[in-house]
Amino acid sequence: MSAILVLIDHETGATKKVSKQILTAARGLGGEVHAAMFGPGASDGAEVLGAFGASTVFVWSDVAVTAYATEPQVRALEAALDASGAEVLLFPSDPFVTDVAARAAVRRGAGVITDAVDLAVDGDVLVATKAIFGGDMVSRCAVRPGYPQFIGVKANAFTAEEAGGRPAKVVELDVEVDDAVRRAEVVEVVEQGSGERPEMTEASVIAAGGRGLGDAEGFRLIERLADALGGAVGASRAATDAGWYPHQHQIGQTGKTVAPQLYIGAGISGAIQHRAGMQTSQLIVAVNKDADAPIFSIADFGVVGDLHKVIPPLIEEINKRKG
Ligand SMILES: Cc1cc2nc3c(=O)[nH]c(=O)nc-3n(C[C@H](O)[C@H](O)[C@H](O)COP(=O)(O)OP(=O)(O)OC[C@H]3O[C@@H](n4cnc5c(N)ncnc54)[C@H](O)[C@@H]3O)c2cc1C
Repeated sequence: MSAILVLIDHETGATKKVSKQILTAARGLGGEVHAAMFGPGASDGAEVLGAFGASTVFVWSDVAVTAYATEPQVRALEAALDASGAEVLLFPSDPFVTDVAARAAVRRGAGVITDAVDLAVDGDVLVATKAIFGGDMVSRCAVRPGYPQFIGVKANAFTAEEAGGRPAKVVELDVEVDDAVRRAEVVEVVEQGSGERPEMTEASVIAAGGRGLGDAEGFRLIERLADALGGAVGASRAATDAGWYPHQHQIGQTGKTVAPQLYIGAGISGAIQHRAGMQTSQLIVAVNKDADAPIFSIADFGVVGDLHKVIPPLIEEINKRKG
């Protein structure tokens, strides 16, 4: 296996969980693992990636490379690929990073696979496992040998584990970016934020609600459950379309894909489009008054009952055990 470059997603130097997970997966694949980190704070957060197995981190800390400035980041990624000699790029399957990786792939004639949930080595090729057709089928796919392999990995597909390695060597890249490349400028960033709660795709626990909540007020119950567990709040499309909860919390085929350690769905039927976004959760708990609701077919634990009667005592019990 050739050297592997992992494109790191970070918040001013703080590496996101998904990138630690990908580094952990990468070091099991047999090639030397490098990382690339761009934008403000990159230099500060690079060395510690050695703990997750990165031997060298290629950074470009140009403050103008703010998040979401795609084209300069594509240039930086190409410089990192050249410097590392990597023919394999692993990146988080999130919309912005995928945008950067996809553009770099076109420029380098690479094959691209997104949304991998598992990786295996077959000679010089990585075989990626991914769900297709809204999660109805599992596909194993690989880039044809001889081409650079760019593979997007889903959050929570792997567990992040430190390898206890030495601090990574940090190499500052010298990237030529003229005004023609800096065509777009980020003039303002408005945080949608989830308050004190973790971001949904990073959360270990998600409490999600659907049409069965009855109205927007019903989501206060789901928020209390999420807070008791230190988790994020998710929603079905029926609930977000009804305006009961913001769209960025929608889970599913046309929403976000999540794979927390614990997913609790209340008043959600479990339509295939919803399941496509959460069925790889490690433990699924469903609360639904209809014993035939499809969500029970993938639930590890199910409660057949009225969520308004089941959830409040559950929150009370969780808080009692915590306290
Ligand atoms: C192209 C396409 C893309 C889509 N993308 C998505 C997507 O990304 N995400 C998504 O979620 N959906 C998506 N949908 C919609 C999807 O098909 C379902 O319509 C939607 O998921 C249903 O949401 P729901 O389970 O909240 O509502 P419902 O299907 O109406 O289910 C409500 C459930 O609540 C239960 N219930 C009612 N009252 C209570 C109570 N008091 N206590 C306990 N249980 C109760 C009911 O028994 C029922 O099972 C998509 C559809 C299409 C066609």
